[in-house]
Amino acid sequence: MSTKNQPISGNDLARFSGPNTFMRLPSANELKGLDVAVLGIPMDIGTSWRSGTRFGPKQVRSESAMLRPYNLATGAAPFDSLQVADIGDLAINTFSLSESLKIISESYDAILNYDAMPLAIGGDHSITLPILRAMAKRHGPLALVHVDAHADVNEDMFGERETHGTVFRRAYEEGLINPSKTYQIGLRGTGYSAEDFTEAADWGFQQFPAHELWGKSLATLGAEIRRDIGDVPTYVTYDIDSLDPAYAPGTGTPEIGGLTTPQALELIRALKGLNIVGGDLVEVSPPYDTSGNTALTGANILYEMLCVLPGVAYR
Ligand code: MN
Ligand code: MN
Repeated sequence: MSTKNQPISGNDLARFSGPNTFMRLPSANELKGLDVAVLGIPMDIGTSWRSGTRFGPKQVRSESAMLRPYNLATGAAPFDSLQVADIGDLAINTFSLSESLKIISESYDAILNYDAMPLAIGGDHSITLPILRAMAKRHGPLALVHVDAHADVNEDMFGERETHGTVFRRAYEEGLINPSKTYQIGLRGTGYSAEDFTEAADWGFQQFPAHELWGKSLATLGAEIRRDIGDVPTYVTYDIDSLDPAYAPGTGTPEIGGLTTPQALELIRALKGLNIVGGDLVEVSPPYDTSGNTALTGANILYEMLCVLPGVAYR
């Protein structure tokens, strides 16, 4: 029997009770000895349309109570080999986006000092910029797997350079990511001009629009990405709006014609073997999630990410 932290079993305590931590894992006040730190970043002041992602961490944790430790499809048993805990929410400043982003990068500096792999529950996508700043300081320019309906490469929004729609332009400009090892998967919807979609491709970003993926397995694409990246430290950022609103309606900027839930699983599962150094699941907005399915799907996606981290045991 593993001596690592385990989620509380549904056979020991009914799933509808117990702590509201991710998968009902122990909560940890210190980072020492952790391989993986799950954390919440409850923020929605970087959004441009619907708000509500400030409630994302709480609701994703709540729905994660259904998750069991063993991945039947892949054989992954992450809690056999990795010490995982929920370190709670970051104390962001809900009255200041810029201050909040600073708090996030400083918190990540601390997490990375302890060599814990961070898995964040957002929050709107603006959280990923300060995360990448800290991650790149530690690991150098990262390979980036970015699953999203949107490229998030605007120059600015209302003059603001740090919002949920500008993240990956800033990351490119600041040299936080390797542009030729940046993969944007699931892009779609309407734009203002053709450049909305082509400019980032000129920087080197590899873009995979949703309409080219309709009806296809993403296992192949995932395997190609894995081979292309090699052993470069890789960050995975999963915007829940990459999924079709039929599967994930509870999000800030929904776009029709999106990925299916099985495609999301195929893609993430194919990333096993990469040198993944951290990840996030963003843009779950519980007030728009009347069925709870979006938060449930988000919880599962985060679990699948956990299952492909380096060092995960397989049975
Ligand atoms: Mn996004
Ligand atoms: Mn998006």
